Amino acid sequence: MLKTAESGRIKSEREDMAKQKLNIKKEDRVLVTTGRDRGKVGKVLHVIPGKDRVLVEKINMIKRHTRGGASKTGQGGIIEKEAPVPISNLKVICGKCTEPTRVGRKALEDGRLVRVCKKCGEQLD
Ligand SMILES: [Zn+2]
Repeated sequence: MLKTAESGRIKSEREDMAKQKLNIKKEDRVLVTTGRDRGKVGKVLHVIPGKDRVLVEKINMIKRHTRGGASKTGQGGIIEKEAPVPISNLKVICGKCTEPTRVGRKALEDGRLVRVCKKCGEQLD
């Protein structure tokens, strides 16, 4: 009994840590590092708030069956759309060195915190 309670607590701590590592933003170019689309590059379309997941253009496509009954075209069929990708499966690609990189944080002179490429130091924001 005690064990179950302990593991539950550890899990929620891990989730809190993951939230702070949200270094991917809309419009970023990202590399997929694992899964079916591993090695592909795409643009971040949408960050899903609170979920550590993003939609990436043409990555993790899923097929949706539609009946089309309610739509004006009247066409049913299959449409493809992006499914959310966990941020842990992605790496940001730096616009300057064009390599997948880890993202660091740096405070500017005016106090703003910006993201930087850990490889070349280029500002990513
Ligand atoms: Zn770089």
